[in-house]
Amino acid sequence: MKQSKMFIPTLREVPNDAESKSHQLLLKAGMIKQIASGVYSYLPIAKRVLNNIEAIVREEMEAIDGVEILMPALQPSELWQESGRWPSYGAELMRMTDRHGREFALGPTHEEIITSLVRDELKSYKKLPVTLFQIQNKFRDEKRPRFGLLRGREFIMKDAYSFHATEESLDATYQDMYQAYSNIYNRVGLKFRPVIADSGAIGGSHTHEFMALAEIGEDTIAYTDGSDYAANIEKAEVLYTPNVQHTAEAALEKIHTPGVKTAQQLADLLGKRLDEIVKSMIVKVDDRFVMFLIRGHHELNDVKVKSFFGTEVVEMATEAEIEGIMNAKPGSLGPVGVDKIDIYADHSVQDINNLAVGANETDYHYINANLGRDFQIKAFGDFRFILEGEQAADGSGPVKFAEGIEVGQVFKLGTKYSEAMKATFLDEQGKAQPMIMGCYGIGVSRTLSAVIEQHHDDNGIIWPKAITPFDIHIISVNPKQDAQRTLADQLYTDFSKNYQVLYDDRQERAGVKFNDADLIGVPLRIVVGKQAADGIVEVKLRGTGESFEVPVNELTAKIE
Ligand code: ATP
Ligand code: MG
Ligand code: MG
Ligand code: MG
Repeated sequence: MKQSKMFIPTLREVPNDAESKSHQLLLKAGMIKQIASGVYSYLPIAKRVLNNIEAIVREEMEAIDGVEILMPALQPSELWQESGRWPSYGAELMRMTDRHGREFALGPTHEEIITSLVRDELKSYKKLPVTLFQIQNKFRDEKRPRFGLLRGREFIMKDAYSFHATEESLDATYQDMYQAYSNIYNRVGLKFRPVIADSGAIGGSHTHEFMALAEIGEDTIAYTDGSDYAANIEKAEVLYTPNVQHTAEAALEKIHTPGVKTAQQLADLLGKRLDEIVKSMIVKVDDRFVMFLIRGHHELNDVKVKSFFGTEVVEMATEAEIEGIMNAKPGSLGPVGVDKIDIYADHSVQDINNLAVGANETDYHYINANLGRDFQIKAFGDFRFILEGEQAADGSGPVKFAEGIEVGQVFKLGTKYSEAMKATFLDEQGKAQPMIMGCYGIGVSRTLSAVIEQHHDDNGIIWPKAITPFDIHIISVNPKQDAQRTLADQLYTDFSKNYQVLYDDRQERAGVKFNDADLIGVPLRIVVGKQAADGIVEVKLRGTGESFEVPVNELTAKIE
């Protein structure tokens, strides 16, 4: 492609609200253009990279017998009523009403559609298992779209769904998917880690997330070097047994917090952002007060407070419900017997020594709570407390934390949707059974950003070869010089036969061209400059910055 005919609106400056490196570089390299909050157009460079990622995803899905389909983004509410998710999905679901007053949603995920499709078409165990997938735009009204493509409101997802007659069959496909996902992330060039995860709103029992390691990541992973165990801290099993002594509350500082009823208010009071709220944990501080860590996905909408009173699990998704619990009558919440529950906000588990906790008294919180000094940890249900640097209970070394970007997730759904939506098949005995399901998502546009988070330098992007938008970037330093233009034209024609070539034939200053080339990040650059008349060009590797002069007749050999 000739750059003079391309549409690559590179920028010198980036808007200050672009907080993450990938967001900045996507804008600077002229790859995306924001249309509304969390909504972007993908310009040619981005589109080419997406195509490459999607091709890898397709190959790996088809290698495990996944079959591609395309379902509508527009989904009738009736199906969501059947699954029970119309009322429960919350504000993230983009809802709309047609001219006849019928309600629809723009699909955030497709369990309902696929279940209705399969239940009407596949009726016998002989047709199972089957795995269907699509690559499509998804819609989620994220409360806080941010970091460019990392958290959009319209984004590209590969979603796959599998249907089975037996648990063993689901297990086998789950394993295949797990392997296919690992292949995909390896192939696109991501450093990643599969982690045990929490199943959240999708439901189901067994699930892993694939985390691209990056500081900007909104999830925290707990792991040790000595074992394969790694988990989202939302879900981490106890890795060590805390040995802490409860001491007096004297070390705590009690602060008056009149009127503070919501996490947002407390966050405001503490000068924290709501999205700095810690992930899931519940800690019984002592008999007098209970600290609730909000299990959040960075926004209150998505927040679930899980509390374990006796064996009962209270799960809430909305601010109103959280307030409901917080305002519950003394003792009404069960055997723990708390009088008042407050919600605490703090940055991360690492900052555990500067917590705010709820006091057992209206309009008060404690701040500066210090683990080990002021309270002891109790584990409830799945939620355990983990500390960085502590020796793991399994002897595999000290617990470490890393930030990750969730680029994909695989779930065993079981029969949650098939039972609710009556998707049954006839087994060998002719008996109707609910289909056993799995679902598997990859954030395609998020993966693109995650790759940039991991592959860049101060000057721009450095594409891994497998997904680079072009293989070779030919730069004609001064196209007004006949010798340069002629040679560059010739190389462009020749290399285009076997490679994807971007040809900078623009009438621009050399500095502009080199800056743009660094930003766009094609791995291999051929610069046709002053020595063109002598048949010599410069080859530059974007990754290492290494450059060398090559006679044109040796170029092909050098490049291979
Ligand atoms: P998150 O925890 O980041 O909100 P999620 O768990 O809600 O993500 P899933 O329902 O598991 O997301 O969807 C499958 C994949 O789609 C995710 O692993 C992620 O890579 C991608 N994804 C989810 N939400 C977004 C978004 N708002 N923008 C871009 N990609 C997204
Ligand atoms: Mg989400
Ligand atoms: Mg998630
Ligand atoms: Mg997920």
